[in-house]
Amino acid sequence: MIHDVFVDADMVLADFITGVERHFNVTVPDGFGYDVARYFDRTWDVLKYDLDEEFYSSLPKMPWAQSLMKWLTHEFDNVYILTSLEPIAGHINGRLIWLGIWFPEYMDKLIVTKHKHLLARSTTLLIDDYPPHCKAWRARRGTAVEVPSRWKGPVGDYNIIEAVAQAAGVTVPHKLGTE
Ligand SMILES: [Mg+2]
Repeated sequence: MIHDVFVDADMVLADFITGVERHFNVTVPDGFGYDVARYFDRTWDVLKYDLDEEFYSSLPKMPWAQSLMKWLTHEFDNVYILTSLEPIAGHINGRLIWLGIWFPEYMDKLIVTKHKHLLARSTTLLIDDYPPHCKAWRARRGTAVEVPSRWKGPVGDYNIIEAVAQAAGVTVPHKLGTE
């Protein structure tokens, strides 16, 4: 039985890749890989300081973000946003502003850590696009739904609610599952 659900932000709720494309006026090809800095011939340790509060606060939503959060809120006891942002004030402030715009009820349910697996246990479910996070979560007996994302390749018509419902062993109302 799942009691606590932890939702990753980038590429699950916020479209980081489209944000990067807009910010730098480039097109990042699907399947490029997680290290976006490589695309600009730089390192993440340099690039990350170009991504400021304005960048994070204006990221577009993922197409399923609204319906996913609405369904999760209704279905599960506790839902949190779990993001492995850099410990850089602009990134964290920007994410708080973003949450205030799109999901204000989750502003005080934001957890920022690069050590997501520490929250895993058998009654928890993680929704995340980054394979190492999912793997570490499962190693601590948590359930993880690995969401496809453009880092890895084309996403297609993925139904995230259906995937989460299946992993959690709950039924999706027909209307929601096809949204
Ligand atoms: Mg992510």
